[in-house]
Amino acid sequence: MVIKSISLQNYRNYRTLSLDFDPDTNIFYGDNAQGKTNILEAVYVSGTSRSHRSSKDRELICFSEEEAHICTVFEKKGILHKIDMHLRKNKTKGIAIDGVPIRKASELFGLIHFVFFSPEDLSIIKNGPAERRHFLDSELCQLDKVYLYQLSNYNKVVLQRNKLLKELYLHPDYREVLDVLDMQLVQYGSALIQRRQTFAEELGEIVHRIHSQLSGGQEEMELKYEPNVTVDAFAQMLFANRERDMRLKTTATGPHRDDISFVVNGVDIRKFGSQGQQRTAALSLKLSEIELVKRLIGDTPVLLLDDVLSELDSGRQNYLLNSIENIQTLITCTGLDDFVSHQFEINKVFQVVKGHVYMPKGF
Ligand code: ATP
Ligand code: MG
Repeated sequence: MVIKSISLQNYRNYRTLSLDFDPDTNIFYGDNAQGKTNILEAVYVSGTSRSHRSSKDRELICFSEEEAHICTVFEKKGILHKIDMHLRKNKTKGIAIDGVPIRKASELFGLIHFVFFSPEDLSIIKNGPAERRHFLDSELCQLDKVYLYQLSNYNKVVLQRNKLLKELYLHPDYREVLDVLDMQLVQYGSALIQRRQTFAEELGEIVHRIHSQLSGGQEEMELKYEPNVTVDAFAQMLFANRERDMRLKTTATGPHRDDISFVVNGVDIRKFGSQGQQRTAALSLKLSEIELVKRLIGDTPVLLLDDVLSELDSGRQNYLLNSIENIQTLITCTGLDDFVSHQFEINKVFQVVKGHVYMPKGF
């Protein structure tokens, strides 16, 4: 899969911008706060409808403006497609694929596959379970439309059930509704648990191999899915915890409380990993994603690397740069020294200065 070009209008610090990308490696370099991450973000937003760093569309629109546009052309299996996105401050966004408007932003999912790696990805390893669930969900939603459907239904049922739990003390006769919601919760939730289980097994196997190579054979990493409840015990546990849920007015049982663990040489690095260990684990995870996407969809994802090279030692930089052959990559960095010292082949270089992009001579 290859992104051919992008044009922006009033997106963050860009007034207008049109870029053609190389199908291999594209480097965006420049000082801090010039607009490098904004370009990667715009590419990601156009393919997923969401930013990796903020959930609100209005933050993506240039401060003084009411609307922004992103137009992306990409090639998938030899065919060109176009995504037009129209962001508005006080309304939901409008999206068209190949000129045809779509009703729900989620219809975009699965069209372009991205693997986005930024320094914030460390939070997948070291922050709370919500970050890790978000990681699982965003990967699975890109790969599996059925999962997306089941997740959205499951989340709706959790919200309805929590609302009902708050109202039950005023309306005890609503208990019958609770029975219905519990059945739905188990139905959708069980599908999520099963899918997460197989995904974690597949990803875990790749992570184990890549992490061992990345750490020069020094570390063995295990990724394990930790479901809050098993499929077999779900209905029974939900019922057993019902009185407590009614007291606390929230649903305590189900995959919305799942987690995944990362264990390196027997130590749980979520809590006890060094910063470097956590960073390497995050990198293994992202490199594994590339392989898993290739395996599952039979096409290469687009790799977005935001400022990650400076965070890695030279062995790991080498490993990363060597493993991204034959995959379109957009990399941001503050200087080009790392690439020169690694004799890494760069196909296209862009210099980013205050919301403008230049193509320096000599590349
Ligand atoms: P760094 O090297 O520090 O990561 P960067 O080049 O990646 O820098 P960006 O994150 O792309 O920088 O941000 C560039 C500028 O865009 C920042 O100065 C930021 O204040 C500005 N910016 C962010 N949102 C908006 C917006 N909605 N409207 C206008 N400018 C914005
Ligand atoms: Mg940045």
